[in-house]
Amino acid sequence: MSAARSGGGGFAGNKAALPSKPCVHCGRPMSWRKAWAKNWDAVKYCSEACRRGKVPRAPAVGPAR
Ligand SMILES: [Zn+2]
Repeated sequence: MSAARSGGGGFAGNKAALPSKPCVHCGRPMSWRKAWAKNWDAVKYCSEACRRGKVPRAPAVGPAR
């Protein structure tokens, strides 16, 4: 009569595993937001600034050697 409590198995109790992905512009990991629930797949930028393509720091672009 051993009641099997764990029906599934293999799930280590990490319930709140929200999806996250890096911003395609700055590369910073952005966590899932409720506002993005509808178009999470289409979200690519972490902020409006990144969406507009503003770069806080210009990459080192020296003269081509
Ligand atoms: Zn970004």
